[in-house]
Parts: sequence; C-alpha cells; structure tokens
Amino acid sequence: MSFTVHGLPVSQGIAIGYAHLVSRALLEVNHYQIAPRHLKAEIERFDNAVASVDGELLGLKASAAAAQPHSEIGAFIDLQRMMLEDPVLIEAARDKIKEYHYNAEWALVQQMESVVEQFRQIEDPYLRERKADVVQVVERLVKALLGDPGPLPPKRKDGLGTVIVAHDLSPADTIGFKDHIAGFITDIGGATSHTAIVARGLGIPAVVGLRHIRGLLRTNELIIVDGTRGIAIIDPDASVVEEYQLRRSALELERSKLKRLRDTPAAALGGEVIQLLANISGPQDMAQIKETNADGVGLFRTEFLFIDRDTLPDEDEQYEIYRSVLKAASGKPVTARTFDIGADKTLAGSAQNEPNPALGLRAVRYSLAEPKIFLTQLRALLRASAHGKLRIMIPMLAHADEIEQTLALIEKAKEELREEKIKFNEKLPIGGMVEVPAAALALGMFIRRLDFLSIGTNDLIQYTLAVDRGNEAVGRLYDPLHPAVLKLISGTIQAAQRAELPVSACGEMAGNSAYTFLLLGMGLRSFSMHPARILEIKRQILRADLAEIALKVQRILKLDEPARINEAVEKLGG
Ligand code: PEP
Ligand code: MG
Repeated sequence: MSFTVHGLPVSQGIAIGYAHLVSRALLEVNHYQIAPRHLKAEIERFDNAVASVDGELLGLKASAAAAQPHSEIGAFIDLQRMMLEDPVLIEAARDKIKEYHYNAEWALVQQMESVVEQFRQIEDPYLRERKADVVQVVERLVKALLGDPGPLPPKRKDGLGTVIVAHDLSPADTIGFKDHIAGFITDIGGATSHTAIVARGLGIPAVVGLRHIRGLLRTNELIIVDGTRGIAIIDPDASVVEEYQLRRSALELERSKLKRLRDTPAAALGGEVIQLLANISGPQDMAQIKETNADGVGLFRTEFLFIDRDTLPDEDEQYEIYRSVLKAASGKPVTARTFDIGADKTLAGSAQNEPNPALGLRAVRYSLAEPKIFLTQLRALLRASAHGKLRIMIPMLAHADEIEQTLALIEKAKEELREEKIKFNEKLPIGGMVEVPAAALALGMFIRRLDFLSIGTNDLIQYTLAVDRGNEAVGRLYDPLHPAVLKLISGTIQAAQRAELPVSACGEMAGNSAYTFLLLGMGLRSFSMHPARILEIKRQILRADLAEIALKVQRILKLDEPARINEAVEKLGG
C-alpha cells in the first residue's frame, strides 16, 4: 500500500529508486534492559558478533596480503584481532550484560569509552593512538550486532537508482555513497547539518528528519524522494511514478535553461556586479566551478580532507591538494577555511565524548588545542599561497585572543618557511567567520585584526536561537528570518562596509533564492554557496533593483513580528 511521509527538504531534486536500509551511523546505539530470561540469548548474540568480526578481519588480512604481499597491514589487522580477545574490552563488556542487563551494543560502547579514556591518559603517543583501533573494533562489532546490510547493490539496468534509508548519516558516510546513489532519506538530521550540505554538494536529492522511516519500509521497496517538497512516497502507484518522472524531466529542463546564464555577468538592474563564489569541500568540486563560471571559492571546507580516513593528511599531502585547488581556480580567489573539526565533523576513531559538542572544542578552538596539527595545515596553506590567490579564513571566532593566537601561529609558520627558504605569499589575507553572535555583536575587535569577514549563517542561526542545526526535533525553530538573526546579519554587513572591510556570506542562506533580495537589501555584495546554486542566484540578481530593495529591506528590519517579516520577505521576492 502506498503512503507518504513528511520530513525536511534538504537537497532538491527527485529520486526514484529502490530502498536500501543501512545501519546506524557509527556508535550511536540504543540502550535498553534485557529481561533476565533473555540474558543467555543476548550473551550468545554478543559472542556471535565477536566471532563474525574475527572472521571478517581474517578475510581482510588475506585479501590485503594478496594485494600487497609486503605491506604491514596484516600486523595492524592482527592487533585488532587481539583486541577481540582482550579481557578488558570483551570480557568486561560481557560482564556488563550479565551484571547490569545492558543490551550488547550498549555494554560494548560503555566499555569502549572507559578503555578509550585509559588510553587518553597514556604519555606514549604511539600507544595513545591505539585508541583508534579500539574504536574501530567496537564499530565493527556494533555493525555486526545491528546487522550490517553489506555492500551496496550494483547499478540497476532498469534506470532506477538506489535510495539509502538510514537512521542518520555522518558527512563521511554520505561521501562514501556518492557513486551510485539516487537519493537518501534519514530518521534524523537538520536542514543545515553537514550531512545535508554534503548531499546538496553531491547533487543527491535528500529528505531528513523522517523520524521512524527505517521501521516503515524494507530493502528493495520502491520509493520516491522529493527533495524539494521534503517528502518520501513509499510503494507509489504507477501513475504517481509517471507523474514524478515528468516532474524530474521538467526539473532537468529548468536546469539546462539556467546553464545559459553561465557567461552572463551577475549584474543587478543598475549594472552593479555581485560577486558569486562557490563553497567546496575538495578539489573534486572544482569542475563545477568551471561549469558555473563562479568568481572563485568563498569557502573551502578543508576539514573534509581530515575526516573519513584513519590518519591525518601530512603537510605535503595537504599542500598538493591546496595547490591543485588553486591551479583549478586559474587565478580566481580561493578562501580556505582552516579545519572546522568538532560538533558533527569528528576525526575517525575519536569517540565523541563532549556533552555539548557544538559548544565544545570545535573549529578554531580545536585547532588551537592541537597546535601541531594546526601548524601543519598553516604551513601547507602558506606554501600553496605561492601558486594562486589564496586567502585563509578562521572559523567560529568569538574572542580576540583566538585571532591573536592564530596570527601568532601563522607568523611562526612563516618564520619557519623563511628559514627553510620556501616561497609563500607574505601578504596572504587572513579573514574570519562571523558565526557566533558574540562576534557579530562585538565586531570591532575582529575588524581591527582581520582582512575580510564571511558570515556563516548556518551557525549564526544555530547559536543565536540556541537550536541545534542537526536536530529535526527543533527544526521548526531554526528560523533564518528571526528578527534577532536579521539584526545580526545586517549589523555585520553594515559595520564591515563602514570599515571598508570586504564581507561575504557563505552559509546556506546565501544560496537560497528566497533570501537573495533580502541579503542584497542589507547591502551584501558577495555571496558564497554550493556551485549548484550559483546560476539560480544569478537569475535573481539579474532582475534586482538594488535601490528599491534596500528601501524595502530597511522597513523589514524595523519589524519584529515574525508573521509580518515572513510576509514582507515573501513579497520582496528574490
Ligand atoms: C556556516 O556556519 O554558515 C558555515 C558556512 O560553516 P559550516 O556550515 O561549515 O559550519
Ligand atoms: Mg559554521
């Protein structure tokens, strides 16, 4: 029987395909009590998972040895197999099931956290790093317990794709799916969660926040994902499939019409040209910049080079990547944001153990807490700066001393490179993101120390309204048009303009055509967004009368009744 489920539209487009259920992201597991009569079966389930992971690792070892006979991968796999016999991890987790009646997944994750904590206390860096192995082994065990669906099905011949159905997906999971996925839907997630941003980046239609969708369908059931309206239609009738196929063709036609704007300058009606920059997460996105003829890169989320892998990229590897992005930019500016690790973007193997990760050691705070990793990135960026118009941007600034410390590290990196006689741009511009309300409200101290600003509306909204951007339960409260948010954005633009400091916006608002006129009316003249959005925003700019819009927006900024603001912004068009 066909039925429709509503969620949050996070990545536009239509996908028609067969459902493929995947297990939960990483170590997010449920906690429940096992009834005494089921304890024996629970322990058996646990032991079976241990045996199955051991078999999996043995298989991996054999295939690694066949592919690379002289590599040391085998030794690493043996180390993980030894952990499967380790009483501190395995016996202790089994005891937790017996004693506290924990379910197996919960017992494992609890025990893992205590072991990881012990590793953290170890002085020896090599041993300390082994905590990543513990986490990986436990991840495998949890997957075995939850029933990993195995590899993705191959591409189908009937032209219909695969729709991933998950409880949640990390940005890394999403990147891993990029090749043969028509769309995805998840139980949880917010519109500006990084997973949603990655989906938009890959052009994959997606709907998140469907609550219990995984429980409502089975693998191989036909499903339509409408990423524009935010709905998933399960087991649709033939007539509905036909209707959606037509809508999908209409969308494709619309896209091809937009392509004609590629070489038209983004000039408003009076002739003023607006800068349209792209947000990227790696060199793979540079082709799209060429396709849309963007003016450069306004936000390179460099943290994507650090996640979804077991070891951190070293200086040379980073340098090559930054250089290749600059080369592909062919002289256009590239704004590399220093890595924004933390919150929903964690490094492989580092269990999230902060009670409030979005308010914890994230972005520049994390970088300054790990000066060695930070310095490596700064050196790589500086070296790359000899090959193009690079700018460095610091995320999540709230305090003047975060800039001072970062500038001091940049100076240290410069000093080292000078001594090593390595070339770099001495005048490399350093900017900061305005994405914490404190920064927007105390802008002077940022303006005095930086060369440019970029407004990160995604986090600015999250932190102003105290609404977790990744949590669909509070998704309704995540309101870009809240008067407090509008005041902070327009205040930032005006203050920067008074100080003649370049200011851009690189959050999702900048790529949403519903807000183009509003931002233009606030005085914004530089927008950075996912490349797929650039031509649509250009189309809006081409019909914008800047003087008239500015007057109307001034009036909107005086309103503080949400319904009236919404109505006025809608009337404004854009
Ligand atoms: C933002 O917060 O608006 C932003 C652009 O950064 P990110 O989405 O990567 O946090
Ligand atoms: Mg941000």
